[in-house]
Amino acid sequence: MSVFGFVGLGNMGRPMAENLIKAGHEVRGFDVVAEIRDAAAAAGITIVGSANEAAHGADVLVTMLPKGEHVRAVLLAQDGPFAQLKPGGLVLDCSSIDVVTSRDVHAAATEAGLLVLDAPVSGGVSGATAGTLTFMVGGSDAALEAAGPALDAMGSKIFHVGGAGAGQAVKACNQMVVGAALAATAEAFVLAERLGLTPQSLFDVLSTSSGNTWVLHNFTPRPGLVEGSAADNGYKAKFAAALLNKDLGLALSAADSAGVELVVGSSAKAQFDKLVEHDGSLDSSAVVKVVDVKN
Ligand code: NAD
Repeated sequence: MSVFGFVGLGNMGRPMAENLIKAGHEVRGFDVVAEIRDAAAAAGITIVGSANEAAHGADVLVTMLPKGEHVRAVLLAQDGPFAQLKPGGLVLDCSSIDVVTSRDVHAAATEAGLLVLDAPVSGGVSGATAGTLTFMVGGSDAALEAAGPALDAMGSKIFHVGGAGAGQAVKACNQMVVGAALAATAEAFVLAERLGLTPQSLFDVLSTSSGNTWVLHNFTPRPGLVEGSAADNGYKAKFAAALLNKDLGLALSAADSAGVELVVGSSAKAQFDKLVEHDGSLDSSAVVKVVDVKN
């Protein structure tokens, strides 16, 4: 049994923290939003008053925050949580953020005598709930070994892809594919409907054909096709469009610095820019609204 501080108890963080508890660990959670704290407490997570309190005496500090700026604000704050962790403890940042911030976190944690990994995830809320997330991990072998029980409790596939920030680099590539698949799937539904097909018939055929994707089942653009989908719930976010748009931006700026032109990735970003302009708090599957405009 280890003691975990867990900061960021939103769509992903809460079920991840719940799985740590199910695996027998003690979790002290913190989130800045009162309703999120209440929902986490109702799910059995012990709530504390700050990130520093969550980290105090803990073996591991997990962060599952929206963007790099939030990770900086929490982990790199003056008199922040690093000094609160047990000596030699582990910092496990599971947020999807830019490589530069991630490397700064690695440097500061190492300077503080801690182990550290960037460990962004894939698998969505369903994977977080089932404890079957894929972790893309950057950092040292020693940090990976220390993180083993935590990663096993929250995920089922762990890829050690390199040193500091390497997990974030792989995650940006994955998100570019997710964004492109989402935009293409939304276009397919609108096209099929305009050609006189029902969403159900397209869904049934895609599901068993070469157009089948994880995105089709987890970000189904139309209601009544996958039980519990965001579309069934007025597009209430499981993965907010603003977050996917952030990820697409990370992929595009990484591509810029690497001298790679992302034609498809740029088109997908343009569609999510439009959705975010309309309402970035909607689920990413609501990108179908951008496609479904009458010309
Ligand atoms: P979310 O917005 O639901 O949760 C983030 C939580 O962080 C919120 O509850 C927010 O209040 C909290 N927070 C923000 N600043 C804070 C601070 N300073 N201190 C404490 N709490 C703070 O987002 P999410 O969907 O859970 O995603 C979290 C991260 O995981 C993002 O980087 C996202 O891109 C990534 N991700 C999300 C999914 C998904 O399907 N939702 C899948 C893979 C990766």
